[in-house]
Amino acid sequence: KYDDTYISTVRQALEKQAEGKVNLLLNDGKGDQGTQNDQIDLLIEKKVDALLVNIVDVGASQTVVNKAKSADIPIIFFNREPNEDVLKSYSKARFVGTNAKDAGVIQGEIITKAWKSGKYDKNNDGIIQYVMLKGEPDNPEAVARSEWSVKTVEENGVKTEQLGMQICNWDTELASRATEAWISKFGDEIEFIISNNDGMAQGAIAALQAAGYNKGDDSKFIPVVGVDATDAAKELIKKGYMTGTVLQDGDAMADV
Ligand code: CA
Repeated sequence: KYDDTYISTVRQALEKQAEGKVNLLLNDGKGDQGTQNDQIDLLIEKKVDALLVNIVDVGASQTVVNKAKSADIPIIFFNREPNEDVLKSYSKARFVGTNAKDAGVIQGEIITKAWKSGKYDKNNDGIIQYVMLKGEPDNPEAVARSEWSVKTVEENGVKTEQLGMQICNWDTELASRATEAWISKFGDEIEFIISNNDGMAQGAIAALQAAGYNKGDDSKFIPVVGVDATDAAKELIKKGYMTGTVLQDGDAMADV
């Protein structure tokens, strides 16, 4: 998805790395597996030397690997990780990406540290009442981040209570709407907003600000954490509107 901020940083880093060495044929799958399959078919017809694929739906990985295998073209998946047995089914298939669990663990550390400042337990019960903005239901990154952010907080000795969880497909606008609904339902009962990525965190902050929160006044503030360290998120953190993010190093991924 060209309009995905994080993937755009990976794409730009790839272009930089490729300059003068690799002729890159870039394709925007637009979040549609059918479109991506057609693009892969075309690239195979063009007899490319290698395929780099950020698969739209990990469930389609085997089909895509089979296409590459029958054309004897090496295939490198990035960002979304296919199952191990899919990768093992072809000797020229690889995955480059971060350990899905790590971003969640780091989020958990950020949340614990912020929580221990003592500022956010609005109802003074020693428990973090939080809402979770989840990317996709079965996406391994979304599942691991949702699980490990909270697990890490618990492992650090802080109790948690989930007030709400909403699937927002990594989308800023959907996250904004979900947060708006939570604010009207729970208001100040919400003590933390955990988001699987910065795009959705940004949406949450937009909704919070529309309701008068997170505008620089410490007394009306709900901490939000994301993942990706996008420029937008870094700007929000600098202004004091957002609490933290986790750097997904797009340059390093392209470098590999
Ligand atoms: Ca509490």
